[in-house]
Amino acid sequence: MKIKTCKSCDLCLTNKFTPVSGRGNHNSEIIIVGESPGYYERKQGLPFVGKSGKLLQYFIDRYNFTNNTYITNAVKCRPSGNRTPNKIEIEKCNKYLLAELRIIRPEIIILLGNTAIESFYHKFIPISKVSGKITNGKPMVGFLYHPAYILRNNDAVTDYIKVFDKVVDYYRDVVDYSHIVNF
Ligand code: URA
Repeated sequence: MKIKTCKSCDLCLTNKFTPVSGRGNHNSEIIIVGESPGYYERKQGLPFVGKSGKLLQYFIDRYNFTNNTYITNAVKCRPSGNRTPNKIEIEKCNKYLLAELRIIRPEIIILLGNTAIESFYHKFIPISKVSGKITNGKPMVGFLYHPAYILRNNDAVTDYIKVFDKVVDYYRDVVDYSHIVNF
């Protein structure tokens, strides 16, 4: 889904940047939601292409979800100084995430960090309480620390394995597993 321009909050108005839209196949069964674009994402106009993105992509490719994953951010513009988006920015930008969810209708939603959780649930749930968990509903919702955190704190990487393994389990039971993950 391409967002050409936006005037919903101060990020666009002061930065005069084009919002960074999501990337990936609209028929994807998995959507991964990050925080907001960083320096490289703003430069390239694509989410998760910098250091954090490389780590995230490593997991996606390793589990062979590459053609089945849509990647986006809760907030589509980069706050100056790389700060965390505030409550108002998260809420103003939420309409775009809702539109992406309506278009993609994912089976699995993976929320990376506090901002993604706040955008999806409209309330603060600390990632420290839920990282590594995945709900059983439809869609299933998985929670992971943001990959930028994993780059600094390797311990939480086991949560990635936990959640991605559960996604694989889901496909094994419900969908033909073989086209999602190749052994
Ligand atoms: N961090 C994010 O949350 N999103 C990006 O696209 C890049 C870094």
